[in-house]
Amino acid sequence: MPRKPTLSPSRLTTFLACPVKFKWTYLDGRGKWYIKSKSYYSFGTSLHNVLQRYHDEGDQGVQTTSEAIAALEESWIDAGYGSQDEMMQALAEGKEIVANYIEQAQTAPITNKTILIEKMLRMDLGSFVLQGRVDRVDEWEDGTLEIVDYKSGRSEVREEDIATDLAMTCYQLLLREHYPNRSVCASIYALRVGQKATVSLSPEELEAFRQDLIKLGEIILNLDPNELRPQVKELCHRCDFLPLCKRDRDFASDYSELLQQLATQEQEHQTSSPQN
Ligand code: SF4
Repeated sequence: MPRKPTLSPSRLTTFLACPVKFKWTYLDGRGKWYIKSKSYYSFGTSLHNVLQRYHDEGDQGVQTTSEAIAALEESWIDAGYGSQDEMMQALAEGKEIVANYIEQAQTAPITNKTILIEKMLRMDLGSFVLQGRVDRVDEWEDGTLEIVDYKSGRSEVREEDIATDLAMTCYQLLLREHYPNRSVCASIYALRVGQKATVSLSPEELEAFRQDLIKLGEIILNLDPNELRPQVKELCHRCDFLPLCKRDRDFASDYSELLQQLATQEQEHQTSSPQN
């Protein structure tokens, strides 16, 4: 029997942001030649690796701040930075973040037990399998399971961000599937500011989300990539696939029109500003 297609939170998020981006990223091999390394991915992955080791009971090598900083230096990913200076500045910031995290973790009262780290969870949703990797799952004293997701780019985190975050809702759905008798909640830990927010969706909310997810998955699975046409949107400015999309004549003309409009607005703004 053929294996069912798999959809992950990142695939779903990419599709919702731009179906053509989804095509270049996952369906059409031409896309891979245009994907560039991103410093923010390298930074986030470097921090994740160290925190994963810190919380892993089986890894005794990262238990103190100095061991964590040494681990960060050893496993630092330097892809995507514009210059050596930029990379060194990010490394210094990464060390500070790791040191603050460990200090906070070591002084906080121990009420949770980490039970899963970097765990891939899967769930059959009929025509496809939903698959997602959780950074960490903690078990509270009352038996509640908390998904903890680290974010290295955010300078704040609010409960409403988590409640409307597709990936965090997928993780809650996946964890409920594996632990149906437990309460489940999801937290985002904003590493730069050492701030965490937590949200728990009700079984009814998760069921409504599951139904929407099935509909979305079916739309994705039934789409014909050849029918997709790129549409100009804000995201295009910083999209790796812009050169590919510009090969579409309509897109290229709409995009240059947009650039002209932006240039005119900028000019008008400069001539109307008080110092002129
Ligand atoms: S350039 Fe725009 S239309 Fe093309 S893939 Fe990127 S976001 Fe989508």
